[in-house]
Amino acid sequence: MTSVSLSDIISCISDYDPDAMTVPQAQKIIHDFITPIAAVEQVAIRSALERVLAKDIISAIDVPANDNSAMDGYALRGDDLTQGFPLHLRIVASVHAGQRHSGQVKSGECVRIMTGAAMPADCDTVIPQEFTTQQDPQDKRMTIPAAGVRRGDNRRLCGEDLSRGQIALRAGKLLRPADIGLLASLGVAEVGVQRRLRVAFFSTGDELRSVGEILNAGCVYDSNRYTLYGMLTRLGCEIIDMGVVKDDPVAMEAAFRSACEHADAVITSGGVSVGAADYTKQTMSKLGDMLFWKIGMRPGRPMAVGRIASQGRAAYLFGLPGNPVAVMVSFYFFVREALLRMMGAEVTPLPRLLVTSLSPIRKKAGRTEYQRGVITPDSDGVWKVKLTGAQGSGILRSMSDANCIIVLDDAQGDVAVGDAVPVVLFDGLI
Ligand code: AMP
Ligand code: MG
Repeated sequence: MTSVSLSDIISCISDYDPDAMTVPQAQKIIHDFITPIAAVEQVAIRSALERVLAKDIISAIDVPANDNSAMDGYALRGDDLTQGFPLHLRIVASVHAGQRHSGQVKSGECVRIMTGAAMPADCDTVIPQEFTTQQDPQDKRMTIPAAGVRRGDNRRLCGEDLSRGQIALRAGKLLRPADIGLLASLGVAEVGVQRRLRVAFFSTGDELRSVGEILNAGCVYDSNRYTLYGMLTRLGCEIIDMGVVKDDPVAMEAAFRSACEHADAVITSGGVSVGAADYTKQTMSKLGDMLFWKIGMRPGRPMAVGRIASQGRAAYLFGLPGNPVAVMVSFYFFVREALLRMMGAEVTPLPRLLVTSLSPIRKKAGRTEYQRGVITPDSDGVWKVKLTGAQGSGILRSMSDANCIIVLDDAQGDVAVGDAVPVVLFDGLI
């Protein structure tokens, strides 16, 4: 892994203060810090779904390969449309999809044609069947009673979808259903994709119990490993779940070493906040190049970012806060993009939609707040957002109830009912 050092990056920032980071500043440093892993594997196109394309795909053929009909109807010479209506034409042939009429079509003639069939060489226009009349199926003549079609209508042109030599898909594209369909339309059976990212994660905190264990007094079940499992799996990562690591220097160091020996990135939760009495931060610093931030955001705020190494292997490390909602928000707004960059994916900003707020929201200017919301259409079909209720960073139900996150940037103050606020949706077409 070729790497840029964190000190090089921060030395270029005039107002760098780890204790007063803004969200955009932290995002920018992470962006500059990450280098893609760039390891390619060849897979069948179905297996390429949700993977990152490694090389541009150049179209070797025209799609479609011939001019063809977009409708069931009659192919004719566009010149004949100037003769006036009703127009009577003689049907000289019939072609189905997959066929081509190789004979001539003269003025006054037409060819019955089905959707997708190649256009006869002399024809440039298709009259849809419903615009025509025909005496009976045996009759070899067809009539177009009135004008309504222009020359060139209902004809799909050779190469109008993709033309030979054109870039069909660019490297870095996260392949979606349309993309693997597009590859199939080009006759491509296999493509090079970036190998899956390996991400190890563990939770820290002596109060944590894993599912299946008895919940002693003062303890909580570890939910962060499950939300992380979900978010990482959806991002297409291979995951290594290392469980709960006790707040003990030996155990902690062993966990960090093992994680970075086996993974490209390591994510921990807990133990990075100011008052943390844990060994988490200490061990992170011992093993690598780390920055510890207080970010002007809510939920979230403490976060550690860096790279650790052991046995000649290095891994990026993201130390997230412990609170369950803070973990998810920090993951979505910092780690997600970092992992996509590591995967070699071209990262575009998450779409933000402006919708009207049905809730008043108290908001302190000077920090970014991520509120959990539910957007629903009103009776006129206009989508509006309301808060999911209690927004504490430990209240995971507020994420579970939500279908979007309302992003209130630093400059934003209190939100009144009726104000437009930006939301990032959880789900979309997949
Ligand atoms: P910390 O960042 O370690 O100070 O933890 C902040 C809060 O998050 C504490 O109330 C922890 O008990 C809680 N917490 C930390 N890790 C987890 C976890 N894995 N699952 C659920 N709650 C957690
Ligand atoms: Mg803790």
